[in-house]
Amino acid sequence: MEFPAEPFRIKVVEKIQKTTREERVELLQQAGLNLFNLPAEKIYIDLLTDSGTSAMSDNQWAGMMVGDESYAGCKNFFNFARAVRDIVGFSHIIPTHQGRSAENLLFSVILKKGDLVPNNTHFDTTRANVLHNEAIPLDLVIDEGHDPNLDHPFKGNMDVDKLERLIADKGKKRIPLIMMTVTNNSGGGQPVSMANLRQVHRVAKKHRIPFFLDACRFAENCFFIKEREPEFASKSIPSIAREMFSYADGCTMSAKKDGLVNIGGFLAMNDDTCYRAATNLLILLEGFPTYGGLAGRDLEAIARGLQEVLEEDYLAYRIGQVRYLGELLSRSGVPILKPIGGHAVYLNAREFLPHLPQAQFPAQALAVALYREAGIRTVEIGSLMFGETDPKTGKESYPELELVRLAIPRRVYTSMHMQYVAESIAQLYRQRQSIKGLLLVYQAPLLRHFTARLSEVE
Ligand SMILES: *Cc1c(COP(=O)(O)O)cnc(C)c1O
Repeated sequence: MEFPAEPFRIKVVEKIQKTTREERVELLQQAGLNLFNLPAEKIYIDLLTDSGTSAMSDNQWAGMMVGDESYAGCKNFFNFARAVRDIVGFSHIIPTHQGRSAENLLFSVILKKGDLVPNNTHFDTTRANVLHNEAIPLDLVIDEGHDPNLDHPFKGNMDVDKLERLIADKGKKRIPLIMMTVTNNSGGGQPVSMANLRQVHRVAKKHRIPFFLDACRFAENCFFIKEREPEFASKSIPSIAREMFSYADGCTMSAKKDGLVNIGGFLAMNDDTCYRAATNLLILLEGFPTYGGLAGRDLEAIARGLQEVLEEDYLAYRIGQVRYLGELLSRSGVPILKPIGGHAVYLNAREFLPHLPQAQFPAQALAVALYREAGIRTVEIGSLMFGETDPKTGKESYPELELVRLAIPRRVYTSMHMQYVAESIAQLYRQRQSIKGLLLVYQAPLLRHFTARLSEVE
C-alpha cells in the first residue's frame, strides 16, 4: 500500500485532546447522540467535513500579513483576480464569502420560475439555491454513479443521452444553464472525465445553453484525469485545469475546499450582461466588487492557495492520503464505497451493521459508536439526514444508502492519524454486534439532522 509522504514539514502545531470513554459517554448524552452538538474541543480527530478546515501554508499566512484593507481597489483583489483568471480563463471574477453566495448570485440573475437546471448531482446548497429561485434541480449522473459497489474511473460523469433527451423534451428555453460538479461531492467525491466535459460542452454549445462548473474540488478532479485518462498522463495539472475550464462559460467556487483557505469563494464568467447583474446584487448582499464579503488578507490567502493546490506533489499526497485510509479499512474487511473518492472515505453502514434495520438509524449508530470508542467525529449520510416522516401518516421514508462519511481536512492530519482512524474502525467492526440501534426523541420539520436528538434502543 503506497502513501506518498507529506510534501511539507510542520512549523506550528495545534493541540488536540484525547478524552476518556466515560467523558465521551457523558458528552454524547448531553448532545442527544447528535455529533453536531459536541464541543469541537472534545474531539480527537474531526472528520466532519473537508470544508474550511484546511491548514494554510507559511506562504499563505505571510500573505495574510500583507492584506490591504482598503475599502475599494485593494492590491490583494488584483492578486486574487489574476490567480483565479490564470486557472479559469474567464473574463469576470466576483469574490464572495463562500460558495453558496456565488450560487445565489448566479441563480438569482439567470433563473426564472419553472426553469430546469441539469447537473451531474447537485450539492445540497446548490439544490437549495435552485429551489429558492423557484426552478427545478435535475441530477443526470450516469447510472453507474448510483451503484455503491461498482468500480468505475469516472463515476461523476453526466449521462449525455439523458441531457440530450431533456433538452429535446422540455426545450432549451426552460434550461438557462447546464452545471457539472467537479468532483461530484454528493456522489462520493467521484471525478468527471475530460471526455465527458467535452461531450457536455458540445451539447451546450449546439443548443447555445451556458455551461457552468461547480468547481469546489477542481484540482482534485484534474489529478484524477491525469491518473486515469491516458491522453493526460504527461500533461501538467495547470494545463489540465485550463483545458477543463475552457469547455465552460463560467463557474462557482467554494475556496473552502480547493482554495486551501478557511473562508472564501467566487463566481466567474465570460458574459458581460450576467456579470453586471450579478455585480449589482453582490454590492447589495456581499460588498463592493473588489472584496465581496472578504477581507483583503483573505483574498491574498486564496490567491496563494490556488497556486499551491495545483502542485502535483501536493495532489499526489492529498489523493494518496484519502486512498491510504480507504485501503487500510478495506484490508480489515470494513465495507466502504468504491472506488475511493477525492476528499472522503464512506463507510457502508448497512453492511457494517446488518443487524440494525433502517428505522434504527444504522449510520448514525455507527457514527455515534465511533466517537464513543475513539473520539473520532464523522457525519451520517443516511436516514437521519435524508429520511422523512410523513406529517400526516407518521410513516417514515428511507434513502437507499446508509453511509458514514470520513471527510479528510487538507494538510491537517498525518498518516499516523489515518492509521489511528483505520484501527479504531477495524476494532469497532470486530465488535459490531454490540452496537445498538437509535430512535428519534426530537426532530425539526426541515434539515432535521442538524438539531435532532436521539436515544439508544434498549
Ligand atoms: C461546499 C460546496 C458548495 C457550497 O460552498 P460553501 O462554501 O459551503 O457555501 C457547493 N458545491 C459543492 C460541490 C460543495 O462541495
